[in-house]
Amino acid sequence: MEKKTYRDFDTYLKEFPDENGYFGRYGGRFLPDELIPAFEEITNAYETICQSAQFINELRRIRREFQGRPTPVYHCERLSNIVGSHCQIYVKREDLNHTGAHKLNHCMGEGLLAKYMGKKKLIAETGAGQHGVAIATAAAYFGMECDVYMGVVDIAKQAPNVTRMKLLGARVVPVSDGAGTLKEAVDAAFNAYLNEYHDAIYCIGSVLGPHPFPKMVRDFQAVIGIEAKEQFTEMTGHLPDAICASVGGGSNSAGLFIPFLSSPVDIYGVEPLGRGEKIGDNAASITYGKVGRLHGFESYLLQDEDGNAAPAYSIASGLDYPGVGPEHAYLHDVGRVQYVTVSDDEAMEAFYMLCRYEGIIPAIESSHAVAYAIRYAKEHKTGSILASLSGRGDKDIDYVVDNLGLGEKYNLK
Ligand SMILES: *Cc1c(COP(=O)(O)O)cnc(C)c1O
Repeated sequence: MEKKTYRDFDTYLKEFPDENGYFGRYGGRFLPDELIPAFEEITNAYETICQSAQFINELRRIRREFQGRPTPVYHCERLSNIVGSHCQIYVKREDLNHTGAHKLNHCMGEGLLAKYMGKKKLIAETGAGQHGVAIATAAAYFGMECDVYMGVVDIAKQAPNVTRMKLLGARVVPVSDGAGTLKEAVDAAFNAYLNEYHDAIYCIGSVLGPHPFPKMVRDFQAVIGIEAKEQFTEMTGHLPDAICASVGGGSNSAGLFIPFLSSPVDIYGVEPLGRGEKIGDNAASITYGKVGRLHGFESYLLQDEDGNAAPAYSIASGLDYPGVGPEHAYLHDVGRVQYVTVSDDEAMEAFYMLCRYEGIIPAIESSHAVAYAIRYAKEHKTGSILASLSGRGDKDIDYVVDNLGLGEKYNLK
């Protein structure tokens, strides 16, 4: 595909995705016939309702009064000094968004859409439980029922999030098929949606799945980049030289990146290298995947020798999905975003550094973006990089301390 520069992205949002949900060759809607009407209904509702002034104003009010937005941009001065380069590191504090991560940005948008559509229930899948907690929060806010499909293996591993969802009034539906993890939970949630779409809408956890979800979730998450661009410019008088974000399914990254696409800013998507390059040791779908289909859309996908979705691994459970949002596949191919990798070990070093030097405990997912910002600062010596701090790390501390202690091996000052 022809390489594009930032100047080619002026009219990007009007053109991508096209009306069938394609970003170049990626995306689309690959579904059994019975499910098409349900996704058509959401697409039509989204395209009309979400443009209305009433919807936009109500969502703005929710963002301000319930979510606590705008979240700040913060200059990590001490971290930048300790890294020892003149390049300055900034973070966009999505960890301060209500529920502690960016996921609520699209869940509140989808909940509000459901309300305008007259639906009474939100259906979702969850892996580590972060998306489940966000959707349960939205359901409580809007006074809707909520069914969250979750693999039995994940239910056993993620007890605190299961408790949170139940406290918020959601029903956690155990899925025992196959490996009993995220992939089976998505399949089960699709099936439930097929039977219940008259009364319910389905809310996927990232910029994934059949059209219109990659577009809709991106649009709701773009609040991250819209705010960050304005805040950074106000703080410094110019744009950052570079921005970066972790890429699991790709929603916090798409949200940060989109408003910067047509600006002279280098953009880096950070994929999890996990333990290494071998299949099963990482979740870097763009770096190591091939084009394929999963969960109703086409994109880069980690695959085994037979072309089936391969197991994905990252120390950050929010990043271990074998595919990636189709828009990222496109932005990779046209060269507008560079996709780099950060290992478990580098992410953990950044985790401890942000705790110790800035007083912020980041999610391990977000630590991947911070680790890349540190690497960039060392390599570039001057300028600035803004990283998406997609979530807080409270959920991770027991695991971290049990497995890696207080970070003794990293030689913190
Ligand atoms: C879920 C999650 C991610 C990864 O999801 P994306 O869709 O790639 O953004 C990253 N950070 C946090 C804190 C998460 O909860």
